[in-house]
Amino acid sequence: TSTAGQCVGNGMVVDVSRYMTHILSEVKNNTIRVQPGVILDDLNDFVSKKNLRFAQNISTSNRCMMGGMIGNNACGSHSLLYGTTRDHVLEIEAVLSDGTVARFGPLAQDELEKKLKQHGLEGDIYRSIYHAIEGNTENIKKHYPHPHPEIIRRNTGYALDYLANNQPWNKTGKPFNLAPFLCGSEGTLVLLTEATLQLVPIPKHKLLICVHFVDLVKSMRATVAMLRHKPAAIELIDQRILECTQDNLEQSRNRFWIQGTPRAILVIELFDDKPSILEQRAQLLIQDLQQQGLGYAYPIIRDEQMNNVWANCTKNSMMWLFIMNKAA
Ligand SMILES: Cc1cc2nc3c(=O)[nH]c(=O)nc-3n(C[C@H](O)[C@H](O)[C@H](O)COP(=O)(O)OP(=O)(O)OC[C@H]3O[C@@H](n4cnc5c(N)ncnc54)[C@H](O)[C@@H]3O)c2cc1C
Repeated sequence: TSTAGQCVGNGMVVDVSRYMTHILSEVKNNTIRVQPGVILDDLNDFVSKKNLRFAQNISTSNRCMMGGMIGNNACGSHSLLYGTTRDHVLEIEAVLSDGTVARFGPLAQDELEKKLKQHGLEGDIYRSIYHAIEGNTENIKKHYPHPHPEIIRRNTGYALDYLANNQPWNKTGKPFNLAPFLCGSEGTLVLLTEATLQLVPIPKHKLLICVHFVDLVKSMRATVAMLRHKPAAIELIDQRILECTQDNLEQSRNRFWIQGTPRAILVIELFDDKPSILEQRAQLLIQDLQQQGLGYAYPIIRDEQMNNVWANCTKNSMMWLFIMNKAA
């Protein structure tokens, strides 16, 4: 998401990285309030003492800020398990275009009705969004780009489909809430000044299975089989990245787990509360792939060595591409 410089357009650039960097609350009921300039790794350090983390795990975690993650509706490698940033933003405080400050959060039916009658820009926002959806829910659901629920990582336009799928239009859905709607709006609707975030428990046990393939197409086919095993993440390391790491002195030391000359590797991450179940699941997944003739080597990586795989291959893969493009 947002690798095309979406924050650079017609408008005003506000740097929140200097003064809006505070974590505003202690962890309460697995939630926390932050300012938009809080860096993801700093947030995770702070909440790790409670065995919690922010669900989305993106490769720019040491510098990206929560305002940017919300602005982009960042997804990250664990979106298979946790969805997107939108699924973990409970409330937003924001400055509107007329300079007024508004809080967006979950509203019961009577609270929504009050907002719809409210004077001023905030009331106008509720009215215009409500009327855009009212009477159009079926059209929105049918024609919204990529309406398939299995496509988790997509940011195409404002999330009207999110609202249409929840209360009051879907009685069994979540309460009406403009905070998740603002996720992915890329700074075009409000200036976010505070967010209340839902945190998730740090997984108790995890491992990686690095499935080696002789060609990319087979690796793509294998993802379908892998999904049945409920992975936390599946990340592709393609041939270009593999070649880059081979040609780099430092990275080549981190290729200890690579067997032969694969054209593609899929790194599958599994989480479980019980180590014995985790091992069983890993073996079942490998057997499943072997039976289907998918992959030729399946090293399992545990503990500290997992960081080598993530940090030196997938975390830096975008950087490698940038370096290569620059060199070209
Ligand atoms: C090398 C690289 C790797 C990446 N890897 C991943 C990945 O694995 N998964 C993934 O999902 N994404 C990835 N991304 C994109 C990712 O979403 C961003 O890195 C990160 O979430 C953005 O944070 P930022 O602080 O850089 O935000 P910025 O780029 O500064 O902002 C992002 C958007 O949010 C808006 N915004 C920021 N702050 C506010 C605010 N206070 N109020 C309103 N709007 C605001 C901006 O206007 C902009 O539209 C990657 C990007 C790069 C460059």
